[in-house]
Amino acid sequence: MIVDRYDAFLFDLDGVLYRGSEPVPRAAEAVQGIRGRGKRVAFMTNNSARAPDEVAAHLASVGIPAAVEEVETSALATARLLAERGVGSAFVIGEKGLTTALRDAGIAIVDGASAARSVADAVVVGLDRGLTYDRLRDAAVLVAAGSWFVASNADASFPAEDGVAWPGAGAIVAAIETTTGVRADVVGKPHAPLLRAALDRAGGGAPLVIGDRLDTDIKGAAALGWDSMLVLTGISTREDLRQQPSSLRPTYVADDLGGLFADR
Ligand SMILES: [Mg+2]
Repeated sequence: MIVDRYDAFLFDLDGVLYRGSEPVPRAAEAVQGIRGRGKRVAFMTNNSARAPDEVAAHLASVGIPAAVEEVETSALATARLLAERGVGSAFVIGEKGLTTALRDAGIAIVDGASAARSVADAVVVGLDRGLTYDRLRDAAVLVAAGSWFVASNADASFPAEDGVAWPGAGAIVAAIETTTGVRADVVGKPHAPLLRAALDRAGGGAPLVIGDRLDTDIKGAAALGWDSMLVLTGISTREDLRQQPSSLRPTYVADDLGGLFADR
């Protein structure tokens, strides 16, 4: 069975384990089956706004018990990256999940009001649904002055409740890139830092990335040389797969997570 070939299973969340507040069929049984075999799991999300305990609680609400320690968010991975690089202070566009993760990593948050006149080692940008022009301006001024520009993720949009696309972190990042001409270093999928942090969290040396998006989950795994499974319970379709360059195709394609227990 596919599940026997790996020791760490890195799950994307939305479109794989749930869709909004609805469980995805067979997902809970699949996670239980993996755990029952003594394998490691991590739950990873590009969403920087939600704190790990909120993610774990949401997973529990769709029938998937998860420890907070098994959750890797782009906020946590960003905080870890900054701490590793010795960043002491950051100006932040983002919500509580991001600011809390940075503070917990010992990074001082530079106050917005004085930011344009002060110094920050880094400017960190995630989704911020309370963003004002003043803060966007301060971020751009700091990046132009040389602060390290880091994005928790570069998702172009996120689906609002009625399925309409609303501007995501990537749209905010693009505004600062357009202003300054400086490209952000991105933590979230398809970039490597979040995926690596998720594997560190799970432990193990033979990971399988499981996701519903070719452009983030599967592309990110391929870039690292890791195997991946595309499940057709979310965004990407078989038609999308046909359009995908062969170097960025998943190792496996399955209608749902029950596919983990197939022979191929
Ligand atoms: Mg997804």
